[in-house]
Amino acid sequence: MAKKQFKTESKKLLDMMINSIYTNKEIFLREIISNASDAIDKIYFRSLTDTSIGLPRDKYEIRIAADKDARTLTISDNGCGMSAEDLEKNLGTIAKSGSFDFKSGLEEGKSADIDVIGQFGVGFYSSFMVADKITVISRTYDSADANQWVSEGADGYTISPCEKDAAGTTVILHIKADTEEESYSEYLEEYKLRGLIKKYSDFIRYPIIMNTSSEKLKDGTEDEYETVSSDETLNSITPIWKRSASEVEEETYNSFYKEKFFDYENPVKVVKQKAEGRVEYDALLFIPGRAPYNYYSKEYEKGLQLYSSGVMIMEKCADLLPDYFSFVKGVVDSPDLSLNISRELLQHDRQLKVIAKNIESKIKSSLIEMLNKDRENYEKFFKAFGAQIKFGLYQDFGMHKDVLQDLLMFESSSGKMVTLKEYTEGMRPDQKKIFYAPGVSAQQISTIPQVKAVKEKGFEILYFTEDIDEFAIQMLMTYNEKEFSNVCSENLDLSTEEEKEQIKKENASYADMLGFIKESIGGGISEVRFTNNLADYAACISTEGALSATMESTLSAMPGSDPSQFKARLVLDINASHPAAAKLKALYMEDKDKLKDYSKLMYENARLISGLAIEDPAEFSRLVSSLMV
Ligand code: ADP
Repeated sequence: MAKKQFKTESKKLLDMMINSIYTNKEIFLREIISNASDAIDKIYFRSLTDTSIGLPRDKYEIRIAADKDARTLTISDNGCGMSAEDLEKNLGTIAKSGSFDFKSGLEEGKSADIDVIGQFGVGFYSSFMVADKITVISRTYDSADANQWVSEGADGYTISPCEKDAAGTTVILHIKADTEEESYSEYLEEYKLRGLIKKYSDFIRYPIIMNTSSEKLKDGTEDEYETVSSDETLNSITPIWKRSASEVEEETYNSFYKEKFFDYENPVKVVKQKAEGRVEYDALLFIPGRAPYNYYSKEYEKGLQLYSSGVMIMEKCADLLPDYFSFVKGVVDSPDLSLNISRELLQHDRQLKVIAKNIESKIKSSLIEMLNKDRENYEKFFKAFGAQIKFGLYQDFGMHKDVLQDLLMFESSSGKMVTLKEYTEGMRPDQKKIFYAPGVSAQQISTIPQVKAVKEKGFEILYFTEDIDEFAIQMLMTYNEKEFSNVCSENLDLSTEEEKEQIKKENASYADMLGFIKESIGGGISEVRFTNNLADYAACISTEGALSATMESTLSAMPGSDPSQFKARLVLDINASHPAAAKLKALYMEDKDKLKDYSKLMYENARLISGLAIEDPAEFSRLVSSLMV
């Protein structure tokens, strides 16, 4: 019989499995068992609408048997089974998950980032970590023909007809010989298999049965023991989400999460909800601590797994999660939902809407609880998903601000992350507004002249380092009745009456000169004025109106946008008490040509320090050079 070759990617992964780069070899059993459980799900689900197929629910099972002499571990199920074509398609190709580019991780001679592979579920092939030969015997429920697939590893596989009594699949692993580093024989030991099933497959919804032996008192004697064997169910079957939280160890939740949702890190929070009354459901939700690689792309699909009384009816039910909580993973199981409801109908299902509403508030309260009690994890969470929450605020025109505003966090001039609540509670009694400053990083923002000046006056400033920040805040408008104020825009009012009067006079008496400077700079600027709010800087740029300079650059950079539509009104603020101001005044009397050049220099210089790009680099360079000769 001709041997068939594995597809290239499969072969590479297979090579890796055989050479056991993955240290966590024991997961192979979990993978085989979960395939068996999926196969039973499939046939059980079909039998609900077609009573001519399948077995009664209590007849489904997964069996596991070890034969030490033959060195085989056999796992069988009475699930949907596979035809010859299925065997070819499913076991000849791997990584149908598609999006993962194996080449990137599997360059020659380089050990692959196994964590990444873990994310995609290595599945069936992981058995080659412990077996040097695998036989899969399978028969589908609708055919009397059975087939067997046999492979000894990377050089290919064969598929041939065979006999099998009933529908289902039997996987026979021929366990490798022990080596100095590794005792593969362990996987033939009852205690080991028992432990692995408890650890990884306890929540599988069908019984995992093994014929186990135990010592029993011999009938009719008082001290004679005999070894008896009997079928024993090794898993606890009840789905993990149906068990009360107090019975389940955290580690069990974590491994359930990691296996089911392909993460290699524990979630930062596990949320359990049991609802009784108008709607009945169990929800087990997880807040990940890390964004999946495709989270901020169109490819990412939000949704919770939906079950009806323990049977899965939808892999990703998007209607259960608002977009701003799209990062949440988990399972919802409700007896109120009909099993064979179509997706379209489900969208209009009233029960489902009620569940979604409850889940949304549960997620919110859980996040708030994490914020209050587990700050470190909350900050980790916010780093990964904060942008999504801000985006949610913006996207719905602030409609959900009550849900979202208390979840926001920003870095501030205090050097820490602060929430809006914390910020407003720490506000000085004379402070009317919430100060913020946009920029690319906390470091850059902290050097902006206005920021320095406001900080020196003793106020805290929120640092908006993400493009979305200002947009989100504009949707919010106020927090706790306090308005937000960009310290780089003109509406700052921190001066005393006396100072204000003074600067007003200064501006009035030098109106001509300021006009001349504005003229010299050209179109980029809408006003030039003196100010006394600049610490020790000579000048800086402020904006007037709703559109800030950073928002202008974000909007202009969006694909297909017309930059001329988004123009922030820029103002050049000159520090009235800086020696440079005196120089300008002197030049206005003595050398207008030079003043013209200095005006441009001062303007470009102010743009730089305010985090904006230089408008005319060639001219700027010429002017700076001319200073040096
Ligand atoms: P995954 O389970 O992640 O899809 P696997 O490599 O583990 O990847 O399995 C490939 C496919 O082989 C499965 O998707 C399934 O269609 C099929 N398969 C594996 N084991 C069984 C089984 N016991 N019964 C029926 N089909 C199976």
